[in-house]
Amino acid sequence: MCFRPAAISMEKTCSECGAINDFSNEVCDQCGATLPSAPPIAGMPGAPGAPGAPGAPAAPSAPKAPGAPGAPSAPKGPSAE
Ligand SMILES: [Zn+2]
Repeated sequence: MCFRPAAISMEKTCSECGAINDFSNEVCDQCGATLPSAPPIAGMPGAPGAPGAPGAPAAPSAPKAPGAPGAPSAPKGPSAE
């Protein structure tokens, strides 16, 4: 029963390159892309933009990626064997 979800709550995954950035980072440390103000992980009560939260309009903090975090399609090459 050693479950520690805190580890994922302290990081931000870049939706552009998939790099792990510090939670306090506003931009990706790898590619410089703008990181979301809130982590894509739902579990923080009262967090703005939380999916399913009553009285929560569309998250104004998301300039792009309409609800598709953590799924970066990164083709490694034209020729794949
Ligand atoms: Zn990045």
